[in-house]
Amino acid sequence: MYRIRFHGRGGQGMKTASRILGKAFFLEGYEVQDAPRYGAERRGAPMFAYVRASKEQINERGIIRHPGLVVVADESLIAVPAAGVMQALRSDSILLINSMEKTKLWQDRLNFKGRIIALTQSPSGKGWDEMRFIGAICAGGAARLAGVIQETTLTLAINEELAHLGSDVVQTNLEMALTAFNELKNDTGIVKEGKPVRADDYRPPSWIELSWEDPKLSAPAIHAAATSEKLITGQWRTMRPVIDYSRCNRCWWLCSTFCPDGAIHLDKERYPQIDYNHCKGCLICLAQCPPHAVSAVAEPVAEAQKREGE
Ligand code: SF4
Ligand code: SF4
Repeated sequence: MYRIRFHGRGGQGMKTASRILGKAFFLEGYEVQDAPRYGAERRGAPMFAYVRASKEQINERGIIRHPGLVVVADESLIAVPAAGVMQALRSDSILLINSMEKTKLWQDRLNFKGRIIALTQSPSGKGWDEMRFIGAICAGGAARLAGVIQETTLTLAINEELAHLGSDVVQTNLEMALTAFNELKNDTGIVKEGKPVRADDYRPPSWIELSWEDPKLSAPAIHAAATSEKLITGQWRTMRPVIDYSRCNRCWWLCSTFCPDGAIHLDKERYPQIDYNHCKGCLICLAQCPPHAVSAVAEPVAEAQKREGE
């Protein structure tokens, strides 16, 4: 059975990647499961999607524990333990990282015995602009590494899965996916199929007696104030809210009121200021602002603009 995990951030298209790959496997005659798994948070938060594909009945359920292939759309997640990118990788697993860094660098950086491949080529040469199509790129790369999906099948899967977005969007996604598919030609079929789990193999766990604890000991307790301030969640953002102060009329500070993270405070003139260390980029402030004073800027573009201004 093929077990494949796609790791990215909410809004990056990992669910789309799993759907495209799942559909392509299905069209090749496989039984398929594909599903996304989100945390409690929103756009920009780490999430993953997974695909199981087998010629036999699939008895496994739930998240994939031992993937044959892990595809990483956003390399910054590798350093975030909670994202679980490296979780349960085995020495025969393959790690495909969308990165402008070379494979050698990742091999030196990660204590991982399996094969690492960096998708370093930027299909259009536009670098970060391609993040909009990263779901299709990841699906194309995974299809090639699995080795059992033909180019025509991948094309059909993308056409079917993205049809609702219109022909122009489908065409660009297709080009990106096929560029990744062709770039990895020399690694066709390197992902190994894992053993399927059979219902006969199931052994119920033995009975476990849980000890009884005094609620005073077992209930969660907060031991220090303001600890959440130390958790820098701003790095989850894919889009940055930017306030145009020439349009902001300091209404009733709806942006600040609705911000679920308390990331907008008022300065001395009572203009809203965004705390980018804790803004997760959900863009609720943008949706609420009556005079449309808040706009969304792609995070890499915002970073580049900031650097230019310094
Ligand atoms: S500042 Fe805006 S985008 Fe950031 S967390 Fe608050 S509501 Fe969301
Ligand atoms: S909601 Fe818009 S107009 Fe109101 S304070 Fe916030 S940015 Fe200004």
